[in-house]
Amino acid sequence: MDKKYRILIQEKNCKQCGICSYLCPKEVLAQSVGECPTVVNPGACIGCRLCAMRCPDFAIEVEVVQE
Ligand code: SF4
Ligand code: SF4
Repeated sequence: MDKKYRILIQEKNCKQCGICSYLCPKEVLAQSVGECPTVVNPGACIGCRLCAMRCPDFAIEVEVVQE
């Protein structure tokens, strides 16, 4: 079965920069200007972790929830 992922966003650490939602290749994250991202399409996540790696504030974690 395909892997599934859970994206955890710690809003208290997020500075709403938009990098994560801009970089996500699968449009898993949606974000309005001045707001934290929200996970709108978790099933599309491919676990690339670009969002987590590029977040300047370490506000995102990506977990494997199903192998
Ligand atoms: S791990 Fe990759 S596909 Fe999943 S939300 Fe982050 S950037 Fe998007
Ligand atoms: S990259 Fe990090 S700090 Fe920037 S909007 Fe995304 S979660 Fe927030």
